[in-house]
This record gives sequence, C-alpha cells and structure tokens, in this order.
Amino acid sequence: MLFRQLYDAETSTYSYLLADQATRQAVLIDPVLEQVERDLRLVTELRLALVHTLETHVHADHVTGASVIRERLGTRSVVAAEGGAGCGDIHVRDGDRVSFGRHALLVRTTPGHTDGCLSFVLEAESTAAAPPMVFTGDALLIRGCGRTDFQQGDPHRLWRSVHDKLFSLPPHTRVYPGHDYKGHTVSTVAEEREHNPRLGGGKTEAEFVAIMNSLRLAQPKNIAVAVPANLNCGAARKDAAPQQG
Ligand code: FE
Repeated sequence: MLFRQLYDAETSTYSYLLADQATRQAVLIDPVLEQVERDLRLVTELRLALVHTLETHVHADHVTGASVIRERLGTRSVVAAEGGAGCGDIHVRDGDRVSFGRHALLVRTTPGHTDGCLSFVLEAESTAAAPPMVFTGDALLIRGCGRTDFQQGDPHRLWRSVHDKLFSLPPHTRVYPGHDYKGHTVSTVAEEREHNPRLGGGKTEAEFVAIMNSLRLAQPKNIAVAVPANLNCGAARKDAAPQQG
C-alpha cells in the first residue's frame, strides 16, 4: 500500500493519502482547501485515481477541499451519516467499509469532539513492516484529544469513544491524528493508553471530564467561516452566514 502523510502548517492539520499500488485507486482523508493544488499534483505524479475523499468530522478550524476535488476529479465525498455534513455523496455508519482497490477503511463512529466524528481503521494485510493503522481525526490526538466545548462536544461521549473504539484496537496499531501542534506525526494505541495525559495512564472518566471542562480555550479563528463552509463540503455558498462566535 502507498501511504503519504500531508501537512497544512497554517492549521496544523494532517491529510492522509492511501492507495492500492496494484489498481492505483486512492483515498484522501481530510483534505484542506488551501492544499488542494499540492494534493492533486501528488495524485497525478503518483498516477493515482482518487476515488474518495473522507471527512473525519465537520472541522471548525479549516475548510475541507472535498468540493473542489469533487469538481475537478469526480471524486466522491464520504461523510458521517449522523452528525456529519449533509452535502456528501456517501453517508457512512459504524461498521461500513470504504474500499480502494484491494484495501478498505473500516468506519468506527467516535463522537464526543463533535457528534459526527469518525475514525477509520485500515483493513489491509498487516506485517511487521506495515503495522495496522487508525486515522482518528480529532477524537484522539497524540498525547491529547479534540476539545469538547462546542459543536455538540461531550467529554463523557469522547471518553467512551476512545476507550471502546480506539483503545480496544491491537496495541501496536499506529495512530494517525487529524492535527498535531507539537511536531509529532504518529503514535500507537499502546503509547496513548500509557502516556496520554488526559485519557490514558490510569485516568478515570471523572478526571477526564474535569480536565476537559476546565480548559477554557479560545475559539478557533476560522470557526465562523469553516463550520458553515464544511457543512456544505467546503463549497462556497452564497447564503453562508457566520454561525457562533
Ligand atoms: Fe475538529
């Protein structure tokens, strides 16, 4: 399998390109609008056929490139059936599969940061050289997690999602998050279970909820633009009025 981790420095966002090397079919997780030219050039250079873009959730900090990519390549946009954007081409639920060539991503619903958050578990033959992978969006970050103070955030739900749906994966599963602000690129389930200061290391649900409810974070600077745009898969919308502050 071909795998590339792509980064948007402005919003510290990761996008992930995965492809089946035999059929050249590819998927792109969480494309960023400002990086569409870079991403599509890479797709062309690697002679890939991009079949799906996938959204881990309705982002508050950047606009998705899904609509522009759909217009350019005819790529189908995959979003959550519940709590996601209504604009996608394919609406997925827990247990659904999104295929690309001989490989697939298995959908796990992981609500709590938003009520429509999804994680994607790679279904491919894993070997010592190619361990299993999960793409966690903002549900589980490296030594952190997505905030729970807006967009239907709920720390109790996030706790259950991470413990039931992510920490239950094989310990050597590689964790690829939606963002990183400190320069980390990848972790593992075992590492986060042991060292995540909010969710791991023996923390209780009550301790986690207390941490999340005391963060007092500033609003993301793009939220008034990003959330309405992402509810429309990133397409410009004439009637788009800023929501929330
Ligand atoms: Fe987010």
